[in-house]
This record gives sequence, structure tokens and C-alpha cells, in this order.
Amino acid sequence: MSSPAFRDILPPFPEPPLTIAVSECLTGAPVRYDGGHRASAWPREALEHLYGFRPICPEVGIGLGVPRASIRLVGAPGAPQAVGVEDPSLDVTERLRDYANARLPELDEVDGYIFKARSPSCGLQGVPLHAGPEAPPIPAGRGLFAARIAEARPRLPLEDGENLFDAGALESFVTRTFVHAFWRRTIADGIDAARLVAFHSACKYLVMAHAVPGYRRLGALVSDLSGDLQTITQRYLKTLMDTLATPPTRSSHANVLQHLQGYVKRTLGAEQRRALAASVEAYRLGKRPLEPLLNAIREHLRAAGADYAASQYYLHVPRVARFGDEMPARER
Ligand code: SF4
Repeated sequence: MSSPAFRDILPPFPEPPLTIAVSECLTGAPVRYDGGHRASAWPREALEHLYGFRPICPEVGIGLGVPRASIRLVGAPGAPQAVGVEDPSLDVTERLRDYANARLPELDEVDGYIFKARSPSCGLQGVPLHAGPEAPPIPAGRGLFAARIAEARPRLPLEDGENLFDAGALESFVTRTFVHAFWRRTIADGIDAARLVAFHSACKYLVMAHAVPGYRRLGALVSDLSGDLQTITQRYLKTLMDTLATPPTRSSHANVLQHLQGYVKRTLGAEQRRALAASVEAYRLGKRPLEPLLNAIREHLRAAGADYAASQYYLHVPRVARFGDEMPARER
């Protein structure tokens, strides 16, 4: 099978393992304030074959030591401070932000970051926030280290580890990290119109599987490259990552599979076509898993010489679990 034009000007799809950053206590390292860890607070086993983990503990990094006094977020949602629970005069707000700034350069070499949920340093969302020293917590905060990373690296795939017990969120995160890696390789020597169009061509059905409106917006962006290419490229990347943050569903996967079926409708016999369509429908109804169906479609496309469709990243991006598979129970 010859390569379609877009494959000839793009790097190979990235292979595991990618490097991602992770809150160090999630790796099992005893770095929490009480000398413990939270290795069970994310589905590590589902991810180990895909990633090498770069552990970061900001509270140890700013010199608080282990064990240490615990801290919490106090103040307004837009400007909280990280202060000691027992001793409010301990204020590490600036130290956490400075430490995040110091770690930023190395995050240009990773393709994702998994944070410990609800931590006043690392939690991405829903961190307990106290309006004042005596006020009860509301889940409206963001860990100060994580907040600075999210602000400075808005396209880097970020997720609270606990959220990854959800199969859809897990699939979305994994896809975003591999697309991020593919993008970094694609623009390693700069971007031009041909590369942007080729990248979009390779990711077209992958994007469609996540959200059709985003797929349409991205198509519109690359269909008119008469403006400033850097501006268009930034807009493209933001829209791409926002779209991939929507987890795919059985219906959205089935929609893509039906599109791919169109590439083999002339090479399959009537009975094969009916069997394939029935398999897609059975998948959509939750009666069969996705992976064997993807394998079957790949084979049909190769046999048909449908190079463009067979080379779609949708058919090659690593997956950790068939959508709808039961994931490990969430631990608190
Ligand atoms: S949540 Fe963050 S700061 Fe707290 S122990 Fe884990 S890595 Fe360290």
C-alpha cells in the first residue's frame, strides 16, 4: 500500500512510551504531609504501558519537607492563598508559584500532566477553598502550583488523576497526549501550510470521534489559510485540544466507523458489507467492544488499498480500554 500524500510530509505517529509529568505522591513515593502516598488515587496500571512518569512534588520542592504542616486554600476564588491549617502565618503562595515557574521549561518536553485531585498545591479543580480562616470549605479552588502550570501551558493535556477512573475521560486524556506528541514532532522544524493541512488530514476522523462541531470548526480553519499562518495555527491547536477534551461516545465512534465503511463499500461483497454494518451497530448498542471492530476495519481498508482512510490516526492512536469497559473503583 502506498502512503497518502499527508503521510509523506509528516513524521511517524509517536509510539509509546511518551513522557508525562505526574504528582509524585501518585507514584507511591512517600511525599505527602503525613509521610504517606496516594498511589491508589489514579488508574496507574492502565497507563504504565503508554508512559514514562516524571514525578514532581511542589511542596517538597519548595522545602517543606516530610512530614510537614498541612496547608489549605483560603481567600477569594480568583486569588486564594496557600496557608498552614494550624498556623495561618505559614504562607507558601508565592513559593508555590515561583516553583511552578521554575519547572515550566522541562514541561516543554512532556506530553501531559496528571495531578493529585483536591490538593491545595496540585488539584486542578474542585479543591476545598475557605473564604476565611473560620469559613467552611467550598469545592471552588485550584491548587496553586497546578493553576500556574495550566495558565502557562494551556495546550498541555492536564487531568486530575481521579477523573481518569472514568473510561471516557481516560480515552480523551490518552488521545490528547498522543496528539500533542504528534503535533510537537510535526512542528519540530517549523510549521507551514502544507504541514498544517497534512496534520489535519491525518487527525480528521480522530477529531470527528470526539465532537463533530469541533471537527467542522477545524475543517473551516484549514480551508482558508490566506491569513497569518501563526495566528491560524494557534487557533487550530486550541480548537483541536478543546475538541479532543470531549470524550468520545459509542455513537460518535459508530459515526466514524460508518464513514470509514464508505471507503470499502465497492470492494466488499454484499454479505460482508451487511456483516460489517451489523458489527458497527452492535458496537453502538454496547453489545461488542471497539478494538476487534477497529482491527477488522483496518484490514478491510488495507485490502481495498484505501490508503487515505487506512492511514488515519484514528485507527492507530493507542487506546487503554475499550469504551464502556468497567474501570477500577474510585478510591477516596
Ligand atoms: S499532592 Fe502534590 S504537593 Fe501534595 S504530596 Fe502529592 S505531589 Fe506533593
